[in-house]
Amino acid sequence: MSYLVFLGFFLLASIITSSGQTCNAVIPATARVRDVRRVKFYLDPSGTTIPFYIRKRIFTKAFDTWERAACVKFAITSVKKGADIVLQFSSVTGANVVATATAPGPPFQVTLIFDIGETWSTTPHSPPTGSLDLHSVALHLIGHGIGLEHIINPAVVMTNTILVGRFSTGTSPFIKTTLTTEDIAAAVAKYGPAC
Ligand SMILES: [Zn+2]
Repeated sequence: MSYLVFLGFFLLASIITSSGQTCNAVIPATARVRDVRRVKFYLDPSGTTIPFYIRKRIFTKAFDTWERAACVKFAITSVKKGADIVLQFSSVTGANVVATATAPGPPFQVTLIFDIGETWSTTPHSPPTGSLDLHSVALHLIGHGIGLEHIINPAVVMTNTILVGRFSTGTSPFIKTTLTTEDIAAAVAKYGPAC
């Protein structure tokens, strides 16, 4: 019996480890964007070979999803200086940590970081083996970009555990591109309903 319990724990731990990609952002509860009427985002070209038009398409979809959830409006900018949110590919340290973010608030420029040690999938229908879904992680990081903290529930977008899993060949089981009622409630609590 005890052997079976041990085996069960081992299998459970294996499952979590193999799909548990995390984000280590720490966002204060008081974090807010500077101006909800116009949150400017900038796509930093460094650290990635993903073409601009593909990044723009994916990130814009994720921003639109948050815009439909709460009263906050986004606009792309081609100027990094003065942007409220910078989306950037660079190194993130920590085992299985694939993304992080700084918090909004003075000096009012948030950096959302996608780990360059990962392979990012921009094609969820035929993702490269071992890749992570860029759209799913972008949706999560943009939540931080508007000052949302992690929610302790692996089923929601703003979870820090099992943020999104790696794709195996030919499968796409780990896409999280829809906000849950808990995610929406967190955004509405800060900014009010979509306007
Ligand atoms: Zn996070």
